[in-house]
Amino acid sequence: MRCLILLLTALPALAQYDLVIANGRAMDPETGLDAVRNIGVSGGKIKAISTKPLKGRDTIDAKGLVVAPGFIDLHSHGQDDENYRYKARDGVTTALEMEVGVWPVDPWYKAREGKALINFGATSGHIPARMAAMKDTGTFLPRDNSVNRSSTAVEEREILAHVREGLDQGALGVGMGIAYFPKVTREEILGLFGLAGERKTPVYVHMRNPGPVEPGVVDSMQEVIADAASSGAPLHIVHITSMAFRQTELALGMVDGARRRNLDVTTECYPYTAGMTQLESAIFDKGWQERIGVNYGDLQWVATGERLTEATFQKYRAQGGPVVIHSIPEEMVKMALTHPGVMVASDGWLVDGKGHPRAAGTYSRVLGRYVRDQNALPLMEALRRMTLLPAQRLGVASKGRLKVGADADITVFDPAKVADQATYDNPSKYAEGIPYVVVNGVAVVSGGQLRTGVFPGRGVRR
Ligand SMILES: [Zn+2]
Repeated sequence: MRCLILLLTALPALAQYDLVIANGRAMDPETGLDAVRNIGVSGGKIKAISTKPLKGRDTIDAKGLVVAPGFIDLHSHGQDDENYRYKARDGVTTALEMEVGVWPVDPWYKAREGKALINFGATSGHIPARMAAMKDTGTFLPRDNSVNRSSTAVEEREILAHVREGLDQGALGVGMGIAYFPKVTREEILGLFGLAGERKTPVYVHMRNPGPVEPGVVDSMQEVIADAASSGAPLHIVHITSMAFRQTELALGMVDGARRRNLDVTTECYPYTAGMTQLESAIFDKGWQERIGVNYGDLQWVATGERLTEATFQKYRAQGGPVVIHSIPEEMVKMALTHPGVMVASDGWLVDGKGHPRAAGTYSRVLGRYVRDQNALPLMEALRRMTLLPAQRLGVASKGRLKVGADADITVFDPAKVADQATYDNPSKYAEGIPYVVVNGVAVVSGGQLRTGVFPGRGVRR
């Protein structure tokens, strides 16, 4: 008996934790912790944050490196193995499809449980729900039946029922892309806000119109802010810079004003001067040059990398596919990235390595280009926009924080080396300077390399 007690008391000294991240500069935006600490992880949770040495079955030596909560991307369209690999190498431990959302919701989560490198989740999407109810032939974005007309009363009820069903199945809010439905009524949109308001869950919205020409970004913000005010639904406006362009300051002022009147309104941006969407979508219906403030030569066809002309625009629009839109002034990117409360979110997706560099480089680009090289914002402030603020928007207390009891989603990076590598011409290049990424206690990036055959990602549900 005595021997057994001795043995039991001796065991913890050998390996107290599954994993220890030792000697790193631990940074936590919630508490302001910025000091060398040892982090002990067991059972997928952070169990200790200590100045004393800890013993782990596995140890990561993080000397000289920053240890931060794993980055949370609220706007990640790429929801497959390929995209999760690029997200992980960019320091993202949770990638969520909140704008377009998904429908039906349950099968989407089931298809990923136990098979995902990083954590995943989605809103109940108005876009897929409306495409289903109106029998649109589009896949990711609408193409015909839901674009060309308003919904009937019967269809509108069915759309609302679809979105409600998705919320019942644990979706993280209501996703909306009003711009993709030029004929959707303001009443239909208000009805969805009403549903979100009843459930006290946020609406994540790509607004009706961008740009300075009315109806443009100001009208669009008036619509969603008024709907949020009257319904009580929390509101998250996606990619503010690619809606507001040169009016980013005005748009951010409207968000701030709404917040000062105690409305729950937030926004996000990506650190790039170009957006991307499908060329066949309603975004490029008649008048797009005036709405977006660009011309053919500002469009870059993703499949070939070529800039478009009127002729190639017509040809590729008939064919369909993603197009990069060089439309956002650099000053506006910097203004949004440094404006109080604005989150970082990628809006990225890659298909067979093709797409926009933001899918692979958003987070490393903010940390490298804007924090280190340009000194545009302090490191802790950048981390807040990638971790704590998105977690608060989700209402998830166990993520976005480096604290005892939190999920062990942890990103370890070298502040002197972290940098995006992906470009418009070569978007499928992994970020550099992020040697360790831990998801639910399991390293998915180790020594700067992806680990294969590990699937610690879990579905984030409401
Ligand atoms: Zn969008």
